[in-house]
Amino acid sequence: MRYPKESPPAFTLTSGPVDAYPEVLRALASTVIYDYDPAFQLVYEKAALKAQKAMATPEPPLILHGEPVLALEATAASLIAKDDCVLNLASGVYGKGFGYWAARYAAKVEEIEVPYDECVEPEAVQAFLKDHPEIKVVAACHHDTPSGTLNDVDAIGEVVAEAGALLIVDAVSSWGGMRTTPGACRAGVYVTGPNKCLGCPPALSLAAVSSEAWDKIDSNPDAPTASMLSLTDWRHAWKSTEPFPFTPSVSEVNGLDAALDRYLNEGPERVWARHDLTAAACRDGVRAMGLDIWPAREEIASPTTTAVKMPQGADAAKIIAVARTRYGVMLSAGRGDTEGKLIRIGHMGPSAQPMYALIAIAALGGAMAATGVDVDVGSGLVAAQSRIDASG
Ligand SMILES: *Cc1c(COP(=O)(O)O)cnc(C)c1O
Repeated sequence: MRYPKESPPAFTLTSGPVDAYPEVLRALASTVIYDYDPAFQLVYEKAALKAQKAMATPEPPLILHGEPVLALEATAASLIAKDDCVLNLASGVYGKGFGYWAARYAAKVEEIEVPYDECVEPEAVQAFLKDHPEIKVVAACHHDTPSGTLNDVDAIGEVVAEAGALLIVDAVSSWGGMRTTPGACRAGVYVTGPNKCLGCPPALSLAAVSSEAWDKIDSNPDAPTASMLSLTDWRHAWKSTEPFPFTPSVSEVNGLDAALDRYLNEGPERVWARHDLTAAACRDGVRAMGLDIWPAREEIASPTTTAVKMPQGADAAKIIAVARTRYGVMLSAGRGDTEGKLIRIGHMGPSAQPMYALIAIAALGGAMAATGVDVDVGSGLVAAQSRIDASG
C-alpha cells in the first residue's frame, strides 16, 4: 500500500471538490482583515465585478457564503411562492434532489423524470408546459454530476421563456468548464460555485438572478430576509458602500478573487478547450480499454466529468479503493441511484489537463485488472494519448 488512507492522494481526479489552484491557495493564506475594512470591501466589490464579467451577467451575481447547496436551497426558498406550481426536471440525482426543496415551498411540484443515463428533451418540456399553463417555475440541472450527463439548458430555457415561466438552473459543475452562461439559457436564477471548475475549496456559491426573477422574489411575501436562505439580503452587498447582512467568508472571497483572475487571464475559451480535450481523451481511453461510458449518447457526455459504466461483476467501491491506495489516484463514486453502477473521472479546473486522462485511465484500468475485471489498459492509454496528439 503505497498511499495509505491516512495520507493525501497524489492526484485528485474527482468531480468535486477538486484540488485548488496554487494561486487560490496563496490567496486563502492572506491575512484575514475585518470585513468592514475598506480594503476588504474593495476586494469584495472587485471579486463580484470579475464574477459578473466571467458569467456575462447584467449585474454582479450574488456571492453566498456556503457551498452551492446554499444557493440552490435559497433559490427555492426565495423564488417559489406558496401558490406556485413548479416543474422539476430530473435526469439524475441533483435534478431529482431539487424537487424535494421545491416541494417545501410550492403548492405543487410536477416532474419529468428520465433514466439517469439520459437527458430531458426540450420538446418534452415544451409539451408539458403547453398542457400545464399553471407552471410558474421550471428547475433543471445542467450537468447532473453523478451521471456525467448534460441537459440542453439553452434549448430548455427557450421553451420555458416562451411559456412565460422562470427557469432555475443548477450549473454548479458545468459553469467555468464549458460554454454556458445565465443569459444563453435565459435563466431566472442560475447557480454555480467556485469549488468545481474554478478550482476553489467548497465554501461559496454564486447566483445570477435576472430582473424578472427579482420581480418575482420582491413580490413573494414569503421570500426570506434576515436569513442565511435569503437572496434579497445579499443583492446590493457587493457594493463597497453597502453593508453586509452577515459576516462574509473573508478568506474564501480572497480565494474566489484569485480564481477569477486566473480564469479571465487564461481566457475562458482556452479553459473550456482543455476541459473538452481531457474529456475526449478519457472517453477514447475508456472505450479502447473495452469499457463504455455511462451516458446513453456521446452528445450528452459532460466535458467536466467522465462517468464510466461498470461492467457486470465489477465492484466499483473496491476499484476506487485500489486506485487510491495503489496509485494514489482519487476517483469519484456514483451517488444515490448511480452508486455502484459507475465510476467518475473528474476533469474540472486544475485537473482538466489532457495528460491527466492517461493517469486516470492507468489508475482505473490497473485497479479494475487487479480486481479481476478484463480490461486492456495499454490500448486505453494509446487511445487517450492519440486523441491528445491528434489535437495538435
Ligand atoms: C457539486 C454540486 C452541487 C453542490 O453540492 P454538493 O453535493 O454539496 O457538492 C450541486 N449541484 C451539482 C450539479 C453539483 O455537481
